[in-house]
Amino acid sequence: MSTHAQNADFEEIGKFTRLADEWWDKNGAFKSLHDINPLRLNWIEDCVKEHFGTGLGGKKVLDVGCGGGILSHSMAVRGANVLGADLGDANLQAAKIYADKTSMSDVLDFRCVPVEVLAAEQAEQYDVVTCMEMLEHVPDPSAIVQACFDLLKPNGVCILSTLNRNKKSYLFAIVGAEYILRLVDKGTHDWHKFITPAELDTMATHAGFKRADMTGLHYNPLTRHYWLSNRNVDVNYMMAFVKP
Ligand code: SAH
Repeated sequence: MSTHAQNADFEEIGKFTRLADEWWDKNGAFKSLHDINPLRLNWIEDCVKEHFGTGLGGKKVLDVGCGGGILSHSMAVRGANVLGADLGDANLQAAKIYADKTSMSDVLDFRCVPVEVLAAEQAEQYDVVTCMEMLEHVPDPSAIVQACFDLLKPNGVCILSTLNRNKKSYLFAIVGAEYILRLVDKGTHDWHKFITPAELDTMATHAGFKRADMTGLHYNPLTRHYWLSNRNVDVNYMMAFVKP
């Protein structure tokens, strides 16, 4: 990828902006993101505590590919000062409206800017960078991981989540989630763009990161129960890295 301007697929981004008025409808198109949010938020805060000795309170956080700000908002509620970045204007509008409505705008801001541009502008400014469910929608995920690294202060923590690429993830994340259970819209994901933990680890190591932790995120469609398990990262997973 030669320039950051090309490292965005606006067809992919359009899948989210088209549904932007549903970002804060907890039973709408982004229901599954709302459902998993407490789980991932707790895991993120545990990683932050493990590393810094204190939680999200007072931390300067960047949420890359923030969408309507579901995670960004919840991290701000935990006391972090959060900037959410995305390239979908309508997503950011929804995020801003909800931040205003909930009186969080003092500690929660949103910008439409490529993360690579932000990295040049705000190098080494953040304690924590999150980039969730976004890497599988960009042409060159490794450039995003590198920008996340550059944006972190030395000793900062980065949390990434994406979908693994194997037969089981095709069955669960495409056939099951999009066609049978309709958890997300059909066509939301392209299986070929899923990223294995080994690939993500290689990208992160290449950027300069050291791996700190990893967990899998699971869903039982019968009980509608979500949980984390370190032993199984076959479908949805999160990885934590530290900038040395
Ligand atoms: N991270 C949020 C939203 C995930 S949906 C959450 O987990 O709740 C994926 C988001 O990535 C969408 O909002 C889409 O607009 C955004 N996105 C896709 N490509 C992007 C890019 N190159 N730069 C920034 N955001 C991007």
